Amino acid sequence: MAPESPYSLYLHIPFCRHKCSYCDFNTYAGLDNLIGDYTSSLAREIRLQGESAGLRIPVHTIFFGGGTPSLLSAPQLETIIEALETSFELHPQSEITLEANPGTLSLAKLNDFRAAGINRLSLGMQSAVPQELALLERQHTPIDVPRAVSWARQAGFEDLNLDLIFGLPHQSLQAWQRSLDLALQLQPSHFSLYALTLEHGTPLRHWVDRGLVPLPDPDLGADMYLWAQERLARAGYGQYEISSWAARAETGGSGWRECRHNLQYWRNAPYLGLGAGAHGFARGVRTANVLGPMAYIRRIQAGKGEVFPLTPATVEVTDIDRRTEMQETVMMGLRLTVEGVSAPAFERRFGEPLGEVFEGEIDDLITDGLLEWSQGEVLRLTGRGRLLGNRVFERFV
Ligand code: SF4
Repeated sequence: MAPESPYSLYLHIPFCRHKCSYCDFNTYAGLDNLIGDYTSSLAREIRLQGESAGLRIPVHTIFFGGGTPSLLSAPQLETIIEALETSFELHPQSEITLEANPGTLSLAKLNDFRAAGINRLSLGMQSAVPQELALLERQHTPIDVPRAVSWARQAGFEDLNLDLIFGLPHQSLQAWQRSLDLALQLQPSHFSLYALTLEHGTPLRHWVDRGLVPLPDPDLGADMYLWAQERLARAGYGQYEISSWAARAETGGSGWRECRHNLQYWRNAPYLGLGAGAHGFARGVRTANVLGPMAYIRRIQAGKGEVFPLTPATVEVTDIDRRTEMQETVMMGLRLTVEGVSAPAFERRFGEPLGEVFEGEIDDLITDGLLEWSQGEVLRLTGRGRLLGNRVFERFV
């Protein structure tokens, strides 16, 4: 079999201390008693997936997401990483990220995580305002964040991402500025800034629908985003995706400390999703795993190897035809604010010119001032397009 281009692996850890008021991720509070069995099941799923591939698949990024992966103990993490090392061909410079809740960390734990092989930490800071953290029902306080950053640095983590959310109910522009300024003082290598979305079924959405909490003003949210773009640029961070900014790399590499794992998604390149509810995309197939941790454990413990990229936890399989893959490549690629979608690369991948395949959509969106051609061959969002991304993406569905 021909060698494959490097894969990324997403590993889902679906446990949290408490479910935050805005969260609709596949995560559960009060199931910590399952973490041990879940860890061994995840290691088994990794092995089954590796065996079914028929070759040691090259892997260059791994992302422990959740949920709260920092709830795992170091030995549990080591069990998973050991399974990864025996089942896949890990690149020696693999990026291995772990999402962490700042309230779940200690210096000892971070030392252990670093020793286990984690080399990038993503901290869910969200806000530096106590009332905002309380509304979101986060399980940490503002002081936990600088402390976690300091411990992470002592433990040897150089790649640190901070997640922040803007557009919250009651949030003023000044409050947002204060949160981002405090985050900047910590000098992380990466920022992910998300606009709050009021997801159906979440307590926060329910409170807003009942009038208990005000609906955030979208114009104010846009002002917050524009201010953040300007503030981060002034601080030397480069925006490379709608929600992502990277610091300049000191040596080598791409020049910026981008999240290589997320770049894999935005370039519509292959990745495997392991763990409860995880999604994957490989060899023309999208997969989704069973959602519940208990159902996941049962399926994996009872199951045997499947045809790659399926595993015993797979409950959804969607064949991605060429047209769909082209649409997804454009939709995902347009999130990349500088790289955009390269017309030559698109044509090499699909054998058809980008400008012809989506001629009508591209012309309309250029006329609306949402898309532009850069140097005649890279299609990307305009400044206005970054604010109205969904209007662009829905044209390619
Ligand atoms: S910590 Fe993250 S995954 Fe867990 S409930 Fe809160 S927002 Fe959801």
